[in-house]
Amino acid sequence: MKNLIHIILLFVIFSCATEAQKKVADYAESITEAELKTHLYTYASDEFMGREAGTEGETLAINFLKDYYESTGVSAGSTNGSYFQEMTVTDKQGNSIDSYNVLAYIEGSDKSDEVLVITSHLDHIGIEDGLINNGADDDGSGTVAMMEIAEAFIKAKEDGNGPRRSILFLHVSAEEKGLLGSKYYTDNPIYPLANTVANLNIDMIGRVDSLHIDQPNYIYLIGSDILSQDLHDVSEKANKDHVGLEIDYRYNDPTTLVYEFGRWRQNRYYYRSDHYHFIKNNIPAIFYFNGTHEDYHAPTDTVEKINYSLLEKRTRLIFHTAWKIVNREDRLALKEDTEIPSED
Ligand SMILES: [Zn+2]
Repeated sequence: MKNLIHIILLFVIFSCATEAQKKVADYAESITEAELKTHLYTYASDEFMGREAGTEGETLAINFLKDYYESTGVSAGSTNGSYFQEMTVTDKQGNSIDSYNVLAYIEGSDKSDEVLVITSHLDHIGIEDGLINNGADDDGSGTVAMMEIAEAFIKAKEDGNGPRRSILFLHVSAEEKGLLGSKYYTDNPIYPLANTVANLNIDMIGRVDSLHIDQPNYIYLIGSDILSQDLHDVSEKANKDHVGLEIDYRYNDPTTLVYEFGRWRQNRYYYRSDHYHFIKNNIPAIFYFNGTHEDYHAPTDTVEKINYSLLEKRTRLIFHTAWKIVNREDRLALKEDTEIPSED
């Protein structure tokens, strides 16, 4: 009898150990093309009416995200056990809009005070001239990527594999009204900005732009080396070790020209999505982006035009980068001579 108990105990210890040794690659494999597609076919369907901040479409979007995190076992990240950060924001025309950011949270193990914030915007531009703008790429792609990344991390946590630092999945709203949800969050942070180690911002990662039609295995990264060399190095290593995308840094220089709205102009992408409000607070950030395309801000930005295998690969890159940031020993170091960039 005693021997039998010993054998059972040994078996339990052994199986726990192999669980704990499960490789990061196994969790990355839970991020699948099929699941990304299923989520996006709902999230960017006509039912959501283009998800404009302050409208019924936004209400549907935020409840969809809340239901997903609840059923996946990812905790609410706002105050008082809520997934929502309620805000009243003012658009460029001076209209005040009642809107909501959605926050889901995975608490870290031994470095839980330090937080990685992953962002994408949940809103889009709604209905114009009677036509629904589904925003499958902008930013349905970033939204579903975050959902899958959260699922991978919660699976790891359930196996006892960290994360060591905490992760906030911050779906900001009113981005299309002028980055208002991310501004609201950084003005009213739920987790101290001083403890926020980095921001990974995902805005449009499901398409291929005209510069890469023949070589679609790419992603643009913007900002990775600007505030922290560590962040850039971690990101490069994540890609090299696990993913193998071609990382295109051309827009890391805000003056690189881009053809948009019928003319050539400086890209300024560094200032044009939600990472900007983190950067200005001296938080190192990476912006993940596929570049613009003919369906940008048009009713033709639809789900069947998304390249799902590429979306899977890009999502896995962000997951692996996040994994390294939250599980490494040292917090990402800031460059010593960092000058906080300003838009002016
Ligand atoms: Zn966008």
